[in-house]
Amino acid sequence: MILQARGLSRSYGRTPALSEADLTVNAGEILAVMGPSGSGKSTLLHCLAGIFTPDSGEVWFDGRRLDTMNDARRTKLRRTAFGFVFQFGQLVPELTATDNVALPLLLGRAGRKDARRRAGRWLERLGLGELGGRRTGELSGGQAQRVAIARALVTGPRVLFADEPTGALDSLTGEHVMELLVGLAREEGTTVIVVTHDARVAAFADREVIVRDGRLTDPFAAGAVR
Ligand code: ADP
Repeated sequence: MILQARGLSRSYGRTPALSEADLTVNAGEILAVMGPSGSGKSTLLHCLAGIFTPDSGEVWFDGRRLDTMNDARRTKLRRTAFGFVFQFGQLVPELTATDNVALPLLLGRAGRKDARRRAGRWLERLGLGELGGRRTGELSGGQAQRVAIARALVTGPRVLFADEPTGALDSLTGEHVMELLVGLAREEGTTVIVVTHDARVAAFADREVIVRDGRLTDPFAAGAVR
C-alpha cells in the first residue's frame, strides 16, 4: 500500500463534499475514481495529494501521515513525490514545451542545462520531440496534455494524480493521451489515481472505485484480501 485515506470528511461551508471516505491505493496500481459530477471526486483527490486538508480523517503516504504534516514539508513532498495532470490550465502558455517540462526540475534546484536535457527526453517519449521549442499556448489540446504528462512525470514521482485529464479533448485524442499516460506510468512503476466520469478513461485502470454523494467504500480499505 502506498496511499491510504481513513474516514475522510470535508465540507465547503455547509456543503458536505466528502463523508467518511476510505480508500487504499497499492503501489504501482492504476486506479480510476469514478462518480457523477459533484460527487466529491476532486475533493478526494485534493485531500489525498495534500492540497486540501480534510476536516477529519487521516491521509497516509508511504508510512507518513500527510494531513497533519506542516505546510513546508507537505509542499516539498508534493513537489518530489507527486505529479499532477489536470483538465487544463497547468502549463505556462508563454513558455516553450521544453521550459514547461523543465520547470519542476528547476524548482527542485536542478541545473538549467540538465533540466532542459531531461525535459527533452520526456518530450520525445511522448512523441513531441519536434515541438520542444514551441510555446505551449500554440499547441493543440492533445499536444498540450502530452506536455502536461511529461511535466508531471519528469521528476520521477511515486504517485501521479490526474483529474479529468482528457476532459477537454475529443474522444480519439483522449484515448491516445490515456494510452501514453498509462503506458509510461507502467514503465516507470508510477502509481496513478485518475478522477473521471468517463468509462472510456476508467477502462485504462486496473481497478475502479465509485464516489456517490461524498461517500466511498473501498473493499480493500475495509480489510479485504486481494
Ligand atoms: P466532483 O469532482 O465529483 O465533480 P467536487 O469534489 O468538485 O466533485 O465537489 C463535491 C461537492 O462540493 C459539490 O457539491 C460541489 O458543488 C462542492 N464544492 C466543490 N468545490 C467547492 C467550493 N470551492 N466551494 C463550495 N462548494 C464546492
